[in-house]
Parts: sequence; C-alpha cells; structure tokens
Amino acid sequence: MKIHEGPSPVRMGGGPLRSNTRNREAGDIDLELTELSTGRAESPLIETDCNGVTGLDVACIIPLLQACPGDETESLFACADRTRKGFVGDSVHIRGIIEFSNYCVRNCMYCGLRRDNHKLRRYRMTPDEILATSEKGIKSGYRTIVLQSGEDAYYSASDIARIVEGIKAFGDVAVTLSIGERGRSEYATVRSAGADRFLLKHETADTELYRRLHPGAPLETRIECLQDLKSLGFQVGSGFIVGLPGQDISIIARDIALLKALDVEMAGIGPFIPHPDTPLASYPAGDVVMTLKALAVARLALPHANLPVTTALSTLRQDGRELALSSGGNVIMPNITPAKYRELYEIYPDSASLKDPEDGGIREIAVMLEAMGREVSTTKGDTLPREKRPIPARDEDSFQ
Ligand code: SAM
Ligand code: SF4
Repeated sequence: MKIHEGPSPVRMGGGPLRSNTRNREAGDIDLELTELSTGRAESPLIETDCNGVTGLDVACIIPLLQACPGDETESLFACADRTRKGFVGDSVHIRGIIEFSNYCVRNCMYCGLRRDNHKLRRYRMTPDEILATSEKGIKSGYRTIVLQSGEDAYYSASDIARIVEGIKAFGDVAVTLSIGERGRSEYATVRSAGADRFLLKHETADTELYRRLHPGAPLETRIECLQDLKSLGFQVGSGFIVGLPGQDISIIARDIALLKALDVEMAGIGPFIPHPDTPLASYPAGDVVMTLKALAVARLALPHANLPVTTALSTLRQDGRELALSSGGNVIMPNITPAKYRELYEIYPDSASLKDPEDGGIREIAVMLEAMGREVSTTKGDTLPREKRPIPARDEDSFQ
C-alpha cells in the first residue's frame, strides 16, 4: 500500500470539511460523554487542517473515515503525518512492555485471555521476575516500562505499588500500567507509588455494543475509571478496536470523538483479530486501512497525543509499524516479556510480538526509524501539560 506522496488538498465525502468551530473544553466532558456514548452529539462542526482538528463532531468525522482509496486516503495520511511532525516531532518513543500475568476475571468476547477460555495455560510473574525484567529493559535503553496483565486481583494495589517503586529506583524512567478496572483508591495507591501513566481502552463507544462484548461490565464504569485516573494525575490512554463485529463507521467516528471528549494523552487503535477459543472466533479480522484512517483522524483530533503503533496492526501487516508511523503514530511498544511466557499471553493468535527479540529489538527499531527519517526519542516521552503545549505555525496547505 502506498502511504502518501505529499498532500494534495482533497474534498472528501462530497462536502467541505472546514466550517465554523465550537471549541469544547475538558470541562464539558460529562455532558459530551453522555452525548457521544449514545451517539447523540449535536453541533455538526469540525475544522480540520494539518494543524489538527479543533472542534469535533461525529457527522464530520465520518467523511474522513470514508476517504476513497487513492488520493483521498493518501491525503488524509499525509495530513496526519504532517500534524504529527508539527506537534510531537520526528522522535518515536519506545516503551518496553512486560505482560506479567494472563489471569483475567473478565470475559471480553474478543479476547483470548477471557476467564472462560479454559484451554489457556495461565501464568503469573513474581514481583522479583517483573523487577529483573524491567531492569534488563532499562539497561537496554527503555525509558518507559509498561506493565500489562489481565484483570488479576492476585496482585493487590500495594503489590503493584511496590513493583512500581522498585522500577523507579532503577533510574529516571516512567512506568505505565495497563491492568484493567480497579477502584479509585487502588488507582490512588499506585499513583502515589510513582506510576506515571495508565492505559485503559474504552474498546467501543457504543453502549449497546459494549454491553454485548463485555458481559456484566458497562461502558459507564470504564469511563468512570478513566475519569478517576485523569483526576488522580495519570497521563491517561484510551483507545478502541477497529472491526469489532457489530461496529459500523459511525461507531468508529464516535470512538474518536470520545477520545477527544476524554482529552486523553494516549490512544491505542488496533484492528480486531479473531481468537479461535472465543465466541467471536468466526468473525473476520478488522480492516488495516480503516485502522490507519482511524489513527490518522485521531492524530488530527488529538495533535499532542502519544499514539502507539498497535501490535495487532503489526500482526496483520508485516509493515504495520511503518504504515502506522506514517499515518500519525509516534510510539512503539516492543515486547520485553521473558520468552517462556510470551506464547501464553495469547490475546489473539500469532501476535507479531512473539517475533520481537528478547530485548524487544530496540536496535533494529532504531535502524528502521533512521531509514524513515525518524529517530528514537531520548526522553521519557511524557505528554506535555496543556499549558506548555506549543502551537506550531499554521500550515496554509490545509486539508479541505
Ligand atoms: N486487561 C487489560 C485491559 O483489558 O485493559 C489489559 C490487557 S488487554 C489484553 C489489552 C488490550 O488487548 C485490550 O484493551 C483490547 O483492546 C486488546 N484486545 C484483546 N483482544 C483482542 C483481539 N482479539 N483483537 C484485538 N485486540 C484485542
Ligand atoms: Fe481480560 Fe483485558 Fe482480555 Fe478483557 S481485554 S478479557 S479485561 S485481558
């Protein structure tokens, strides 16, 4: 697939993309979440150019996602790429991910780690193993360690807090947690221990689809968790899956609008990949181009955000990293989990991360980035606080 050959201004979906803008601020979140998660967002206003979307409406995101193959789609990717360059630069943040437990109390219909998948052999890493793996990763050059697991109450908040403190003692590194839904006081405990960031995807912004895919766990609770995390001072990441059975383009548009309403610092957008031992085994995988379009629009909507290349995308396309990095992405999360556990963390089959070398392939990534004219970031890669965010000079080559 060609990515882009420089942006030719294109009108998409038959209508102009620029119109008046009503800026919404973070304080509008409660109202907007209700609107967005029920699909009733009003005010069809969006302004998008290569300096980013400044107002958001679902009805105006849809034409972007409907960009035709060829010039329109390539123009969208090019615009997202220039927005990325203007707001967050050419450096790519590399975060080492440790999948420390595949036990999960949840039954998400799409995930191989779901509680009712009795075919999966379960494992838990000990705190010492997690610390040793983190130290190794930090020595290899990682400046962020991501700890991910199923929802596994075996590790109390104080257990996680001790692990976070241990990792922070190794050096000036950031710790990101991706351990699912917990109570506010538990989030507060791990935040006090020094955890910097938290990833919790909303998965889908459609309340009914969310209910069908997450037995006994409403979208409302997930959004409350995200708001708790934000109010505790975490850099918060959310995100969604593209190609979930029952999803349509308007839901993807609402997913992006919800990211904007939540004002997230990070957003993971990856394709659905069917797992044979889940109820969704027979459904097709999500579409790679639609995933890239969603990523590109998310970049326009959240120009300052850190947007990772998802492993799911790299699993469906060997060149997934390059494609996503050229469509708005600026983060790679190599797997640094010890080899003996990797195959057991089977969210979906044949994950690209199984091929990552033990150190995650940080040197190979540097070579790939250099070939793309990009570089490995030397910073921890925190999102700048709102008041410190520079606004690049306006680019006259607008996207319309
Ligand atoms: N348990 C934590 C949670 O759900 O937030 C973290 C681990 S969970 C395995 C990480 C992510 O995997 C989820 O947010 C979900 O989007 C993704 N995922 C799970 N099953 C998937 C599938 N079949 N295809 C694509 N992504 C999937
Ligand atoms: Fe558990 Fe996360 Fe998988 Fe859901 S997505 S089953 S919470 S590991």
